[in-house]
Amino acid sequence: MVATVQPEENLNLESGWLCLDFANTAEWHLSDQPTERLTSYAELIAWARAINLLPDRAAQQLLRAADQHPTEAARVLDRAVALREAIYHIFVAVAAGKSPSAENQAILNTELSRSMSKSRLVWNKATFDWGRQGEDGDLDQVLWWVLRSTTNLLTTEDIQRVGVCADDRGCGWLFYDTSRNRTRQWCSMRGCGNRAKARRHYERVKSEE
Ligand SMILES: [Zn+2]
Repeated sequence: MVATVQPEENLNLESGWLCLDFANTAEWHLSDQPTERLTSYAELIAWARAINLLPDRAAQQLLRAADQHPTEAARVLDRAVALREAIYHIFVAVAAGKSPSAENQAILNTELSRSMSKSRLVWNKATFDWGRQGEDGDLDQVLWWVLRSTTNLLTTEDIQRVGVCADDRGCGWLFYDTSRNRTRQWCSMRGCGNRAKARRHYERVKSEE
């Protein structure tokens, strides 16, 4: 089977990029105690369902396959979390103007070679699309899409638009800054931006007392 949907345009993404939404599957990522959302293989699939990467039928099929092969599913989850951490810290480093660590680059490239071996170019009547070639029950297929998105973003100048939330308690969410002067600071104005505004207001009122 070759799957050639172009996912990112039609997905329900917070950041606009599949790879950044994936990197944000841990909350308070820069704090001492990040909250892990990928606590089981089922949670990984639930995330892929929530962003519409996997249709219901495919998700159900993968959950059944995971039940039949729990050791392999656990291994895929470990790989997913390790890849997520590598991607996250690569973007954090680039956003800070630093070089990503060799270790994180190695993790990314190891997963990339695996996914490239499942990649095919598929003629679409005008140009070629990248497609994933594999079985419907391949437990690690979500990682293929994550790597497609990651390589797309890392290899263009758009990488310079990736920012890290400025919240000083370690929110650490990545965002894609579409503002003209690239002045965005917060993961969202509803979340951390609002909290920072409320804190500034409180401090101003206090200092006027
Ligand atoms: Zn934030």
